[in-house]
Amino acid sequence: MRVTFPHMGTLHLTLDTLFRRLGTEIISPPPTTKETLAIGMQYSPEFACLPLKLMLGNFIQAVEQGADAIIMCGGCGPCRLGHYAQVQQEILHDLGYHADMIVLEANIGQLLPQIRKLAPSKSWREIYQNIQVAWGKMTAIDEVEHLMHQIRPRAVDPASVTKIYEHGLQLFSHMHTPAEIAKVKEDTAKELREVPVDNRKRLLRVGIVGELFVALEPLVNQEIERHLGNMGVAVERTIYISDWVRGHLFWNHEARRHREAVAQAAGPYLQHWVGGHGLESIGRTIQLARQGYDGVIQVFPFTCMPEIVAKSILPRVSEDYNIPVMTLVLDEHAGEAGIMTRLEAFIDLMARRRNQEELYHECILGR
Ligand code: SF4
Repeated sequence: MRVTFPHMGTLHLTLDTLFRRLGTEIISPPPTTKETLAIGMQYSPEFACLPLKLMLGNFIQAVEQGADAIIMCGGCGPCRLGHYAQVQQEILHDLGYHADMIVLEANIGQLLPQIRKLAPSKSWREIYQNIQVAWGKMTAIDEVEHLMHQIRPRAVDPASVTKIYEHGLQLFSHMHTPAEIAKVKEDTAKELREVPVDNRKRLLRVGIVGELFVALEPLVNQEIERHLGNMGVAVERTIYISDWVRGHLFWNHEARRHREAVAQAAGPYLQHWVGGHGLESIGRTIQLARQGYDGVIQVFPFTCMPEIVAKSILPRVSEDYNIPVMTLVLDEHAGEAGIMTRLEAFIDLMARRRNQEELYHECILGR
């Protein structure tokens, strides 16, 4: 069995390590490009959400390279994610591609037996140990990325920060043992901390909320984090893939508390889960406003139901908490130039508000 999986941010680096260590033969799809999107768009229903199209493109490219089994995530509604795997399998079948679809549910009780099927020669103990190693890699990559977001807007040369991070990812892709992973993390973090920075810069702070796939996939979100960082804006993305795993698979005390706090913040506006990260988009926007952020950007793909619900509520949150919120709805027609224009206008708006507030405190209140 030669297994493949979809791309979503840096997820493939972790899955690569997990399945390699479990002895499962893998065919990683080529990096997601415009060609992947074109393939996915050609064969997907027009109104399917963008992640379905891109993942289908990944699968077709990987199956053409010899993959005969596809790992895909499941879902339990209320959005369409739970139907993705079946729809994609039917499309592949109609196109004459024969690959088994292995649907991994976001539930550790169901997930473990499915992983066991992919690694029949491994004991439960070995499976557990290898999941631990892969988890260590996922958190290491996310920590380095988070550090990169903190340093880039302060850097004298922001491009050099991106370069160090990308080089770190290259190194991570070849590392599959805990010692190797820890070394790359340490070296990359050290290099990032040594980048010359200008600590006198007064940074605007922006939070990113929204749908997971779009928030994590730079090709889809037009690299907004890089653009913002290059323009001297500190970005706090509210979702990392390790957060999702912690909250959905490990479901530990810390994750539960975090989820409860977000739901509580969102409570006056939305009292139930609407699928995806719709509820989180509301709750996290309120938390960011309370933490004094200058603005929030909501990102999601065209036709994403949970985020459409959140979008309809966010103007009220924005007014009540006096925080600007910009929504970017992304689809296959989104272009970098248009996104840049909107980002620049949003930065301008936040900077004016910040200056007015500071002036008000200095002149009117005398402090
Ligand atoms: S969260 Fe949105 S984009 Fe993701 S599967 Fe659900 S509807 Fe589609």
